[in-house]
Amino acid sequence: MAAELIDGKEIARKKQAHIGSEVQKLKAEGITPGLAVILAGNNQASRTYVKNKQKTCDKLGMNSMLIELPESVTEQELIRKINELNESEDIHGILVQLPLPSHINEKAIIEIISPDKDVDGFHPINIGRMMTAQDAFIPCTPAGIVEMLNSIGADISGKHVVVIGRSNIVGKPAGQLFLNEDATVTYCHSKTADLKEYTKRADILVAAAGKTKLITKDHVKNGAIVIDVGMNRNEEGKLCGDVDFEAVKHKAGFITPVPGGVGPMTITMLMHNTLKAAKLSISKI
Ligand code: NAP
Repeated sequence: MAAELIDGKEIARKKQAHIGSEVQKLKAEGITPGLAVILAGNNQASRTYVKNKQKTCDKLGMNSMLIELPESVTEQELIRKINELNESEDIHGILVQLPLPSHINEKAIIEIISPDKDVDGFHPINIGRMMTAQDAFIPCTPAGIVEMLNSIGADISGKHVVVIGRSNIVGKPAGQLFLNEDATVTYCHSKTADLKEYTKRADILVAAAGKTKLITKDHVKNGAIVIDVGMNRNEEGKLCGDVDFEAVKHKAGFITPVPGGVGPMTITMLMHNTLKAAKLSISKI
């Protein structure tokens, strides 16, 4: 039997419609949510991501501001810019597009962003709040994964979740969110000996390694929920995930496609966080 497809595009469309109507309510109170994106350097992939973020802001009635800085920008210049945005009343969310040029200390830069405007959820204060299950800005990709699971009515409590990948932006926070939802969580990474031994015991498998066809049908338990975060290019240059979709779809219970799975949810959760930041700004007036 083929797995049921988790349609990220459709889930994102519904969530965005809701965010759009919340934006209209805020506007009626005189507040237009505003997102500032800082793009430093000439990374083409980053440029495309930033364009999509701006387009989605426009679509949902939010303001967006793009600050383009040259590859040669200094850490001091970047800090000055972020501090200006921290002070701005029109900007509620600040996003520094990663990766930054190699001479810049990314961790130090992220710490300059006000935690109340940290819509990526990368600031240590938000990470700490998430770890202690307090209200926080949650990193967009992990938040999108949980949102997708909620939308199919998946019961996370008591389930065994295996997360492949331990990056600060996807793997680690995804595992932490599942732990907060009372799952039993196993992290796997590049040093994990015998990946299959872990993955085939997963009720929910999250693949975020960035390796094409890492997950075959032998890695998956019958009926498991398989979430493919990977965004890779195959030999023909086509976008694909970490999961061998054609093989695994016959074994999984639910599966996300690439494209059209986690990707649309990530940008949607950025809009959700920007709206949340704008609402937070009212409560601080
Ligand atoms: P990353 O920083 O490169 O981290 C990759 C993780 O996967 C690392 O923890 C690494 O282990 C682990 N790994 C690599 N090869 C492995 C293997 N053979 N077996 C088991 N684990 C392995 O990447 P990332 O930023 O987390 O992103 C992961 C993937 O998701 C990428 O394809 C990225 O493009 C995609 N992504 C998609 C979205 C979306 O919206 N759809 C958003 C963000 C990222 P070590 O820690 O030991 O090196």
